[in-house]
Amino acid sequence: LAPSEFIKEGGENLRSIICCIMGHVDSGKTKLLDCIRGTNVQEGEAGGITQQIGATYFPAKNIRERTRELKADAKLKVPGLLVIDTPGHESFTNLRSRGSSLCDLAILVVDIKHGLEPQTIESLNLLRMRNTEFIIALNKVDRLYGWKTCKNAPIVKAMKQQNKDVTNEFNIRLTDIITQFKEQGLNTEIYYKNKEMGETFSIVPTSAKSGEGVPDLLLWLVQWAQKTMVEKLTYVDEVQCTVLEVKVIEGHGTTIDVVLVNGELHEGDQIVVCGLQGPIVTTIRALLTPHPMKELRVKGTYLHHKEIKAAQGIKITAQGLEHAIAGTSLHVVGPDDDIEAMKESAMEDMESVLSRIDKSGEGVYVQTSTLGSLEALLEFLKTPAVNIPVSEGYNEGWSDAREEKEYATILAFDVKVTTEARELADEMGVKIFCADIIYQLFNQFQVYIENIKEEKKKESAGEAVFPCVLQILPNCVFNKRDPIILGVKVHDGILKIGTPICVPGREFTDIGRIASIENNHKPVDYAEKGDEVAIKIVASNREEQKMFGRHFDMEDELVSHISRRSIDILKADYMVSQG
Ligand code: GDP
Repeated sequence: LAPSEFIKEGGENLRSIICCIMGHVDSGKTKLLDCIRGTNVQEGEAGGITQQIGATYFPAKNIRERTRELKADAKLKVPGLLVIDTPGHESFTNLRSRGSSLCDLAILVVDIKHGLEPQTIESLNLLRMRNTEFIIALNKVDRLYGWKTCKNAPIVKAMKQQNKDVTNEFNIRLTDIITQFKEQGLNTEIYYKNKEMGETFSIVPTSAKSGEGVPDLLLWLVQWAQKTMVEKLTYVDEVQCTVLEVKVIEGHGTTIDVVLVNGELHEGDQIVVCGLQGPIVTTIRALLTPHPMKELRVKGTYLHHKEIKAAQGIKITAQGLEHAIAGTSLHVVGPDDDIEAMKESAMEDMESVLSRIDKSGEGVYVQTSTLGSLEALLEFLKTPAVNIPVSEGYNEGWSDAREEKEYATILAFDVKVTTEARELADEMGVKIFCADIIYQLFNQFQVYIENIKEEKKKESAGEAVFPCVLQILPNCVFNKRDPIILGVKVHDGILKIGTPICVPGREFTDIGRIASIENNHKPVDYAEKGDEVAIKIVASNREEQKMFGRHFDMEDELVSHISRRSIDILKADYMVSQG
């Protein structure tokens, strides 16, 4: 197809597709991004790729050139593709707007040799939580043994060059990974066989090293978006803009990096941003993008814009941005807008996240790097399988307020814990868990809780009394007085060493504790209903020194002496949770 046949790109008033890259560490996210960018840097500026703040822009023209071999007959209707530059959780969680995602699509990178890994699954969960569509890049196909490199070739063409062993290994791994996705409740299919977009997720085999499959990935991404999300991609004038990062830049003070998804921003616009200490009302001083000559390493120079239209990654300088919160929306105050109402809606972002915190009191503390990841963590902790309450308030009166040891805990997601903070925490008996995978935090916490439970169990083991009813066996009274030695049948319950025994028929007279149990002449720790065992009962004090034949007799039942306290301990430490 001649380029002239791709007429009027962007003619339908669509905005660029915003896309981010997710996946497990080392699956090749960065390399894939470099690969998508790299080939064109070599081809020079003609590729039309522009470096934006936090994102790289690929015009439709560029995508068309790179996918020419795929003979795609579909017109590219979007002006281009905006790929977020920082792959991974953080940028994705911050690309939020009222809990939904600003990302139209994500590329989920999976290493073909490793299959689904912990962060793959976590990325999946984040994508599902935000209802974000994604395409799976099954990366590192060049690492299949015997792979013949076909630089930047469409995947079908590249596969045709491979010998039987390579295609066999490929097919086995593909099938295996499709099964792994199925185990996560997802249908997946290699992209050119996928006829049910939306229900079945597409897999595009790629090599970020030699570029095979990358044309397919680009084209499929654009075509899929055009086909299934026209409404979402239709440009509207109303400003939709999210703060991705808050950064101090020499010569500019505190700046915010934003993604402008819809609408236009102008120098001098009055804006409202959500701040840690309340709404921030300020005026855009400058709208900046990287200098096009960035390759020449002109340090610290930005291009200034009078106005910028979506979709774009932009740096904004303005006064008073120090406490702005990443992951919240930026609002522009129009001539008819009520500024008080705007302030309120700016703060809603944070409040909607904080409202997930349990106000009832007990719970763990959480700390995250950004609002977006806080939201993701809270969401996770709330799921029924996890169900860890999160406490309100922060940093004050910790240790005394934390009566329950398990809640004297901070779950820190994606944040660095300084040595001082750690020392202070140790001093206060506060445990800090730190991870950059949410569910690792949860696993650590769970192990900790189990340990605490075990500890408590041990501490109170002497006081935990299990109910049991014993029947004295005829001709089995071996010693009548302290230590009393008898043959008994466990009529009901469970008999344990240490259990205090009393005689209900004689006003619950205490006769001592079980010192040992023998079953078939072998010492055991406990006996169950139906067992016939020999027991030794030792009096704990003089008062308990009782005698068989005088204080109790053959026909007397013996039972464990249960107190209010022992019931409480049983309930607290041994009851199977009802939840
Ligand atoms: P990230 O942690 O997901 O961003 O992974 P990187 O992009 O840093 O890649 C991790 C390692 O895998 C690096 O050494 C890359 O060079 C290598 N790598 C990434 N993609 C490919 C690929 O397609 N083929 C091969 N052979 N190596 C790759």
